[in-house]
Amino acid sequence: MKSMARKEVYCENCKSHQPLIQPDPQKDDLNLYPWYELVCGTCYSIIATVQIVPDEKPLEPSAAVEPKLKRVPKR
Ligand SMILES: [Zn+2]
Repeated sequence: MKSMARKEVYCENCKSHQPLIQPDPQKDDLNLYPWYELVCGTCYSIIATVQIVPDEKPLEPSAAVEPKLKRVPKR
């Protein structure tokens, strides 16, 4: 029998890796782009909110990285 794989995510709340819940993207009236939340499967805290945007959308400012240091990956 082939063994199944699962995704795990590091959860700050659990302080360990836990199974990841990754629902299908949804669209609603409050958000311009389809989005979904990455959720810890154990404590259900939100790890990250992902939105799917067109490539042309400019990057938003980052509080962690100065604009001059920020690089946009080339393809
Ligand atoms: Zn957790």
